[in-house]
Amino acid sequence: MSFESGLYVVATPIGNLADMSQRAIAVLDAAEIVAVEDSRVTGKLLHHLGLKKKMRRYNDHSSAGDRDSLIAAAREGVVALVSDAGTPLISDPGYKLVRAAREAGVSVYTIPGASAVIAALSICGLPTDRFLFSGFLPHKAKARADALSELAHIKATLVFYESGPRLAASLTAIADLYGDREVAVARELTKKFEEVVTGTAAELAARYSAQEPKGEIVLIIGPPSEDTVADAGDVDAALREALQSMSAAKAAGAIAKKFGLERAALYARATEMKGQ
Ligand code: SAM
Repeated sequence: MSFESGLYVVATPIGNLADMSQRAIAVLDAAEIVAVEDSRVTGKLLHHLGLKKKMRRYNDHSSAGDRDSLIAAAREGVVALVSDAGTPLISDPGYKLVRAAREAGVSVYTIPGASAVIAALSICGLPTDRFLFSGFLPHKAKARADALSELAHIKATLVFYESGPRLAASLTAIADLYGDREVAVARELTKKFEEVVTGTAAELAARYSAQEPKGEIVLIIGPPSEDTVADAGDVDAALREALQSMSAAKAAGAIAKKFGLERAALYARATEMKGQ
């Protein structure tokens, strides 16, 4: 295989090294520079593939100068960008580099492969026609609850990356805010102990509070049922009622919380109603 000069965004396995594609191996072989998150992690992969390559550490805290230098190299030859596992840019470094390379007119190519979000969706048995991936939930309880409230009424399957130590707390927050929506925990995908466990958030919170899970986790929440999705008429009616005893600001806050909607939009609607 031969490759034009440019920046190649190369997916690597999420656990099973046999998931490396032939094109991914060929482009790494052809690369003059491999931009890596952690040279020890990628060093092991390159060693496994029998490749000896010049690695350069890169992450989203790298300087503009580091990016410029990778982009200059990608004008002349093949530069590969990898992360520790899976697809770069998906909860991993690379966004600023890809953006800067495109702005600089350098060709950017994808070498697709594993990504935990897609791997989990493909086997968890929850709807896949419409999904929203939201990376890692915030660690602090208040920020996590706010993030979940913001997503509660979106008519889509929700997907998060999660860690074993935080899983039970996240499931408890989901049970509090989302009730009985179906949840799946996909763990150690493509590895020896791969499993998908499904149930309500409360059931899974009990299971994982009793025993903290080991390994890497994707948390998936099925879409809300039709009757929990806010209907514009219901929202207006609730807002109108709240306005009888509250200011526009307070009513907007209360109804935003109740329906999991944006406060700013409801405030605008509430002031409009007050003026009517
Ligand atoms: N870029 C990667 C991708 O495309 O999947 C994700 C990188 S993110 C820093 C790492 C997180 O992905 C882990 O904490 C876990 O939530 C999820 N993950 C990665 N590999 C996994 C696996 N084999 N099984 C389940 N989840 C995995």
